[in-house]
Amino acid sequence: MFTREELVLVAVSGGKDSLALWEVLIEEGYRTTGLYLDLGIFDYSIESKARCERFAAAHGVPLIITAVADEIGAPVPIIKNVTRRPPCSGCGLSKRYLMNRVALEHGFPVVATGHNLDDEAATLFGSVMHWQTDALPRQSPALAATHPKLVRRVKPLYRLSERETAAYAFLRRIDYIVEECPFAAGATSIAHKEILSRMEEASPGAKHNFLFGFLDRARAAFERVETVALQECARCGQVTTGTVCAFCKLADQVKRAT
Ligand code: SF4
Repeated sequence: MFTREELVLVAVSGGKDSLALWEVLIEEGYRTTGLYLDLGIFDYSIESKARCERFAAAHGVPLIITAVADEIGAPVPIIKNVTRRPPCSGCGLSKRYLMNRVALEHGFPVVATGHNLDDEAATLFGSVMHWQTDALPRQSPALAATHPKLVRRVKPLYRLSERETAAYAFLRRIDYIVEECPFAAGATSIAHKEILSRMEEASPGAKHNFLFGFLDRARAAFERVETVALQECARCGQVTTGTVCAFCKLADQVKRAT
């Protein structure tokens, strides 16, 4: 995923997974910087940002903070109203875009996120449920940089269950935010996690077999022979498949409505 010499940008949300990941990397001697994206989601964002700031100060490591509202013109709750789409849609798009852009701007070759086995299995389940064959090849613990303006993305905790990362964070006394994002309640990914947890109860190892069976035996079958042509957005210069990227289009939509 990365070498000891590389600078790693760790995307932190203030939750158990990302802070556990950051702590392990610091303990293991990797050179890391945290990235906290302030989504502007009421008290949840205030509390989670404070957790990240305290963690960075306690460990003596740098933390970059970028506010979605400064970059796109409005926080996630307003984006949700403007687009009339589920909040996770605009939020997810903004996070992916900003992670890559901040990493590029600061010269990081790789971004690490705290996704665990449960997250990955739920994402895979969602993609399979809707047969999103475009998404299946991208379901990987390490996504290579396929364009000079794309930064490598890795998920070092993908073998660990949510229970394991929670146990680690508890035992290491990591001060993380326990509350979920208020928009998580209606998120499809949460429903998928619940379904998978019921399957796990009935058949222990189900989540692991589902995800690792896919990665080991099925993923390659979905890798497309023809590659999608990537180009630079005419507005911001970030990578896109069209003329203007989805982030710039969303920013336009927000500007028109606010
Ligand atoms: S639950 Fe949805 S809105 Fe909340 S932080 Fe996650 S992606 Fe964003």
